[in-house]
Amino acid sequence: MTTRTVSALIPGQPTQDGNRVPLTRLVPGRGQHGSEAFRAMDPFLLMDHFGPMVLPPGTDAGFPPHPHRGFQTLTYLIQGAFRHRDSTGGSGLLRPGGAQLMNAGAGIVHEEMPVPEQLETGGPIEGVQLWINLPKAHKGSAPGYTDLQPEAMPWTPLPGGRIRVLAGTWAGVTGPAVTPAKVAYAHLELEAGAAFEQAVPAAWTAAVVPLRGSVRIGSQEVAADTVALLGAGDLLALEATSPASLMLLAGEPLREPIAHYGPFVMNTPAEIEQAIRDYQQGRMGHLE
Ligand code: MN
Repeated sequence: MTTRTVSALIPGQPTQDGNRVPLTRLVPGRGQHGSEAFRAMDPFLLMDHFGPMVLPPGTDAGFPPHPHRGFQTLTYLIQGAFRHRDSTGGSGLLRPGGAQLMNAGAGIVHEEMPVPEQLETGGPIEGVQLWINLPKAHKGSAPGYTDLQPEAMPWTPLPGGRIRVLAGTWAGVTGPAVTPAKVAYAHLELEAGAAFEQAVPAAWTAAVVPLRGSVRIGSQEVAADTVALLGAGDLLALEATSPASLMLLAGEPLREPIAHYGPFVMNTPAEIEQAIRDYQQGRMGHLE
């Protein structure tokens, strides 16, 4: 097998979104939008790491109602709680170790807001939201929402660590999230000095994103809140150089044109203009 080395290191960009939620935008990353490195993340469009932070009591930090069309969001919560509601009538409570998979498809309006208890007391919050592109043939699909409970994707012990598999197969464990784009996604925790390796199809995009601590891939050290995009090969191999928490992502590129405007990701500028009109005219629904 050929071990993949790091082809690009993309530093995350501290920013805010929603109601003043501080986060690190890992994909596209600083100055990377439209770049070769961004295109090389195909089929992944965006990755935000929010927290870890402690919200003060009374905070309404969250994401009030907004639309999406043309892709999917996979939101994974590490600490805290979020309440999701959407225009299809979907709602759910996101708990630590759980995730929600939302298909924006032809169009959806949703919100993700703190739970009432957290509004009163404040508390820690940390999570990762990943945007996964939809193939052209699925961009008009019915919108919907699936809760992935923590029990459906428990930690699996590994030598020197543990892994929680959200999608695809890692360490022989298959995760519950199924998406039209073929993807594999997992949260890995390792003790300092522990190693991990996994076969990944040579044609797939692969990246490693430490959320905490650092890892070494080949001779390259990768710090927290940095995307290490991997080059050619069929084996992902890394070693933790400090106690580390990291996301592993891999996926088959769609290789389709991308037209992106805010919350809409389509194939052509005309489809973006149509999405804006459809949202403004209420055709993506509204929250009850
Ligand atoms: Mn959203």
